[in-house]
Amino acid sequence: MSSILEVRGLRAAYGATRVLQGLDLDIADGEIVALLGANGAGKTTTLRALCQAMVTTEGSISLVGQRIDGRSTEQIAKLGVGHVPDGRGTFLGLTAEENLRLGAYARPSRIGADADMERIYGYFPRLKERRAQQAGTLSGGEQQMLAIGRALMGKPRLLLLDEPSFGLAPLIVKDIFAIMRRINQEEQVSILLVEQNAKLALDLSDRAYLLETGRIVLSGPSDDIRRDDAVRRAYLGE
Ligand code: ATP
Repeated sequence: MSSILEVRGLRAAYGATRVLQGLDLDIADGEIVALLGANGAGKTTTLRALCQAMVTTEGSISLVGQRIDGRSTEQIAKLGVGHVPDGRGTFLGLTAEENLRLGAYARPSRIGADADMERIYGYFPRLKERRAQQAGTLSGGEQQMLAIGRALMGKPRLLLLDEPSFGLAPLIVKDIFAIMRRINQEEQVSILLVEQNAKLALDLSDRAYLLETGRIVLSGPSDDIRRDDAVRRAYLGE
């Protein structure tokens, strides 16, 4: 499988506060990769570092063989990295459909945007029903769907998903995760998933990395990570 993302020696800091201590990460074309870790381990910071948002970084980040570190967040979005941040990042005063249209600014060309919007409505029929509703009045689950839909409108090769289950009822989370699997397969988009709920993340992903205080301490196929004793005790509550 060809490489979508290759990260070497990634360090990241907020001013003088160093968070990532030199990460190596790989994502192959079509993979879903989970990034697990305790609160404060640096998961959100890793996603921010990959799109050069809000942190300073050192080390190399290559997307489909092309270096993207040092580029602007906007350029990185245009090159094919869709970021669904924690807190979702939707414009609450705009309608659902206006939010989707804003997502199209990240795509290389407007061609096909209307058809893509219809496909996104196909994954999330609730968004279609509520297309004219202000995003701020959508339920938490609908806002998460909107945030994912907005990122997809940018035609990403790689989707960075930060805690999609946060604050949502288990049934909605189950739906969203099932749809993420479909999106991964049908849209040819690779996914890097940050998720507190390790069981969900390991069920969805092909491979996983475990981050502790800014360092990768374990990586491998999700089935192997699930069987690791330390992971079972610390993250799966067994
Ligand atoms: P959680 O699961 O709790 O969201 P996380 O693994 O995503 O945790 P990060 O949000 O990446 O962790 O935070 C890693 C460290 O960086 C924490 O110690 C946090 O306090 C610090 N940090 C995060 N954002 C900032 C910021 N804007 N300025 C300074 N420090 C920050």
